[in-house]
Amino acid sequence: MKYNVSKSRYCSAVQCPKILWLKKNNPDAFDSSVMNKAVLDTGSAVGDLAMGLFGDYIEVPFGDLGEMISTTKHLVEARTPVIAEASFSVDGLFCSVDILKVLDSDEVELYEVKSSTSVHDIYYHDAAFQCYVLNRLGYKVKSCNIVHINNQYERCGELDIHEFFTVEDITTGAMLMQRDVATNVDAIREYMEQTSEPCDDIGEHCFSPYSCGFFGYCSRNLPTPNIFDVAGARTSTKFKCYRNGIVSFEDLNTCDLLSGSQYKQIEHELFDYPPYIDTESIRGFMKNISFPLYFLDFESFQPAIPLYDHSHPFEQIVFQYSLHYLEHEDDELKHKEFLAYPGEDPRRKLAEQLCADIPLNVCTTAYNMGFEKGRIRGLAEIFPDLRDHLMNIHDHIVDLMIPFQKKWYYCRAMQGSYSIKYVLPALFPNDPSLDYHNLEGVHNGGEASEAFAKMATMTEDKIELMREHLLKYCGLDTYAMVKVWEKLKEI
Ligand code: SF4
Repeated sequence: MKYNVSKSRYCSAVQCPKILWLKKNNPDAFDSSVMNKAVLDTGSAVGDLAMGLFGDYIEVPFGDLGEMISTTKHLVEARTPVIAEASFSVDGLFCSVDILKVLDSDEVELYEVKSSTSVHDIYYHDAAFQCYVLNRLGYKVKSCNIVHINNQYERCGELDIHEFFTVEDITTGAMLMQRDVATNVDAIREYMEQTSEPCDDIGEHCFSPYSCGFFGYCSRNLPTPNIFDVAGARTSTKFKCYRNGIVSFEDLNTCDLLSGSQYKQIEHELFDYPPYIDTESIRGFMKNISFPLYFLDFESFQPAIPLYDHSHPFEQIVFQYSLHYLEHEDDELKHKEFLAYPGEDPRRKLAEQLCADIPLNVCTTAYNMGFEKGRIRGLAEIFPDLRDHLMNIHDHIVDLMIPFQKKWYYCRAMQGSYSIKYVLPALFPNDPSLDYHNLEGVHNGGEASEAFAKMATMTEDKIELMREHLLKYCGLDTYAMVKVWEKLKEI
């Protein structure tokens, strides 16, 4: 029996046919943590919005494939002008077209919707496969298009979907690939007939266009740790080492393909050195910190579809901050915070409270300050009356990450990373009050974004519970910064 090829299977096979083979024969080896649920949710919200791009439409209900195909057939025969999720099958090949414009009973236009802001190569394969299926069914595909998000769009009032989306005609490229589709489908079917596991090697394709969830499985025979555990090394450098047989940390320690900080990770791992501390550099850095001293951390979310006036697709919208502060060195640690309620634009209230909470000309620390500074600049742009105060905060921010990023302070447990999620447990390995795993509901920035986005549809009880989780999470972020600063102060 012929192996059925859907458009998503086809695109997976374009990346690597072994993905399909393993999904069929060893699905448990797949690490689903590579699948980002927020990205999938965004894709479906954007897809739903795009259905209305050409006026009235009929959506083929999702369900039994046979029913979807016969419903589509009837709709096309009835010359329904716009069909969403129009579904087709021929010779074991299946596709659902995001938006199908029916020009005649045998002439159509295809529109594939993507929640990205540009056209990627893999989209050509996706569209080419759909054209191929329709051509085989006898349809003339007059044009083949990618509908993606226009990142220049700024919402002002009602969402304008014609401005929000950009339509790019890729007909020529998709048509040129038709012969490849036929060849690829044959190759996929032949490949899937293999009864023993194919021996395709790992390579850059494991991370492009998408990170493959089988990477842990396919690299299982490598020594632990190995080149793929080196933090901060480029994928191309990792595979250069790999192809030259330089894989284990022992091998890597004698090669010259990595950077100085990467060798620090390797040496500490191999020789279990005591923590490396560059006292002079850290003391010099600490001179930038003065009192009153503030510790600031933002949480944000990135709606693909702008929710508020004067915001763009995927703009980082800050909805929360935590602020610990010390008036004087020996003062009691105090705390302030802000967390917006869902449903309203959080930016004005947050900016006003931030200006009220952080006085002018004080030292504020952030961990990875590029993020906090970027959000403050954004707020200063849209609220000119608060600009001077916001930019004063911005200009007085000191980045607590620097001593770790520059590896002035490094120990083995940091695993080459300078993210606070690695630095904190490395500095305080036995302190449960600093362990993010002990939090409920929200344990990282991604979960915080997702939680806030979801709050818009929660009941009041759930909103209150989620607010508690968010406040505890963000509060721990700045408390952790205080502890890190205290540690650096001891040096
Ligand atoms: S990890 Fe790489 S080699 Fe293994 S299935 Fe995925 S893409 Fe293919």
